[in-house]
Amino acid sequence: MKDSLTDKTTIPRIKPLPARVINKIAAGEVVERPASVVKELVENAVDAGADRIDIIIEKSGTKLIKIVDNGCGIDEEQIEIAFSRHATSKIASFDDLNSLLSYGFRGEALPSIASVSRLRMVSRTHEARVGTEIIYEGGVLDSMKPTAASPGTVVEVENLFYNTPARRKFLKAETTEARHISRTATALAIGRYDIGFSLTMNGRKLFSLPSGSSLKERVAGLLGPNQEFVKVECEIGPIKVAGCIGLPDMVQNNRYGQFIFINGRFIHSPTLSHALAAGYGELIPRGMFPVGALLLTVDPAEVDVNVHPAKTEVRLSREREIHDALRHLVKEALRQDGIIPSFKATEPLKATESSQHSDPREPSLKEGSRSQIPGVRQEQRFDTNLLSELYKTPDVQAAKPASSSALREQEIVKVDKKTGEVLETEQEPSPVTPTPEAPESFRLVGRFSDLYLLVQSGEDLYVIDQHTAHERVLYEETLPLIETQGVNGQNLLFPVQVELTPEQLSVFDEALELLNHSGFTVSHFGGRMVNIEAVPSILSKKPPDRTFLKVIDDIASLKKAGYDLKKAMAQSIACRSAVMAGDRLTDDEAIHLVSRLLKCQDKYSCPHGRPTFIKISKADLDKQFGRG
Ligand code: ADP
Ligand code: MG
Repeated sequence: MKDSLTDKTTIPRIKPLPARVINKIAAGEVVERPASVVKELVENAVDAGADRIDIIIEKSGTKLIKIVDNGCGIDEEQIEIAFSRHATSKIASFDDLNSLLSYGFRGEALPSIASVSRLRMVSRTHEARVGTEIIYEGGVLDSMKPTAASPGTVVEVENLFYNTPARRKFLKAETTEARHISRTATALAIGRYDIGFSLTMNGRKLFSLPSGSSLKERVAGLLGPNQEFVKVECEIGPIKVAGCIGLPDMVQNNRYGQFIFINGRFIHSPTLSHALAAGYGELIPRGMFPVGALLLTVDPAEVDVNVHPAKTEVRLSREREIHDALRHLVKEALRQDGIIPSFKATEPLKATESSQHSDPREPSLKEGSRSQIPGVRQEQRFDTNLLSELYKTPDVQAAKPASSSALREQEIVKVDKKTGEVLETEQEPSPVTPTPEAPESFRLVGRFSDLYLLVQSGEDLYVIDQHTAHERVLYEETLPLIETQGVNGQNLLFPVQVELTPEQLSVFDEALELLNHSGFTVSHFGGRMVNIEAVPSILSKKPPDRTFLKVIDDIASLKKAGYDLKKAMAQSIACRSAVMAGDRLTDDEAIHLVSRLLKCQDKYSCPHGRPTFIKISKADLDKQFGRG
């Protein structure tokens, strides 16, 4: 084959690319997936001053993305210009970027989207008596004509990526794309809580929120139906912060519940996200993340939004300072609301320096201050304790000298280099301890701290973590059932309904069939409500609605971490039904648990990889005591 690049006789001609091709290439950057189209079009509607925006989606946006707004509209003679590259009404010079208050400014979205779809826009200004309809097919103008329309703009994007097969193929499962869309729409609706928003997917209305809402109403409506939120508000020098954050018991094991904005722009900011969590301090267990929205208003000159066309990445000057101020603000807000367990007020906690810094999950805090925390119920606290264990790396050192706040400082935040998205926060891995041999026969010699079972076998002492051990046992019993005939369910006396967030709903849709095969009997109940009629028998003692929500959140996180759906389901059910730290087992129960553990295929660790037991040999003890 002739290689034209190395063939010196044919000199390649340099030609400018046709606009269509340029737009299609740019589309690769601006329009990564259907959710990016939603974002760009809704931002245009916001920039146009709309106070009502409706988002209508069919087939996760690959069939239809329709955005209806009542903004200023576009004049007939301007409408074609809007579709030419780098045409914008929002900035006129580079310096304007320093005072940017609009979302758009690159003038790239419309031509890019039009080049990879069939796009129809109908727009009418408030002064005009008729509107204009313009249709593009793969970036080529198809038709333009006057048409009857109400003031504002309607954009319909059909067959997205039909002419870029590679991009179309790259799209994830429909449910994944749907989840991205609902997250994007949720973010847009929080960022501009004053605007009326609705989101309809495949004919199902996911939310419909009135204009003129307060931030608190909007956040509660989207992030925590029936939950309480705490308002945070202050000015840190030139920076204004307004926000609404969840109570400490609303934590999730992922960051999906966090929405951070700078000047109305939804951003990924590992630093600010860390500041939010740090503000909760020890109120939330390690590995867990608070829920809420933070809206920062800073002088536009202090933010560089021109980092990436998708604009989710921004550069902030004085980031460190903002981090510290934000952490302080969150901490104060939680304290003022009387949510923080008041360490000062509770005598026993003041007793020693170490108890002040002790982990709130520690049994010594079971009674006392935490039980007085409004909104934090005893039972939930143990659940969150359990959740924190989901992603901990194996940690076999029995006693770490550092306080848990010091541990938090050691967190490694893994960030996706391309998107700036935080992938995972984890502790520094502890040194690996060789796998102990399992005892063959044993004798229960005691318990420690209502968490560890002490078992003797021959000359060795085994310390068994009752929670991880039980998780392992239940996991190995549940997974085969999920993979075959299904898990036994227990009907609830009265069915209960829970409202999901848009994001949880897309996880629910994805897992619906599997949930109903795993002991749950669940179904749609209109809007974002879900009806629960039965739960897996082993979960029947837990509050069904809360447990169900936690299973949904677990699945979302585990899936993101790369687990297959069935394994994620088995892990979650096992984790949610296992005995907790703090649960006191009878001797019989303890012995039964250890025997079942010893029969497990992989008895050494729980499904998340944490050890189920460690061995202390008599020889080692003897050495420690100088009896060697
Ligand atoms: P940008 O938003 O960066 O300016 P776009 O390609 O997204 O670029 O849009 C180009 C121009 O089209 C905008 O600057 C605006 O003047 C106009 N426009 C786009 N969408 C709307 C809308 N929904 N209502 C009114 N004008 C719009
Ligand atoms: Mg735009």
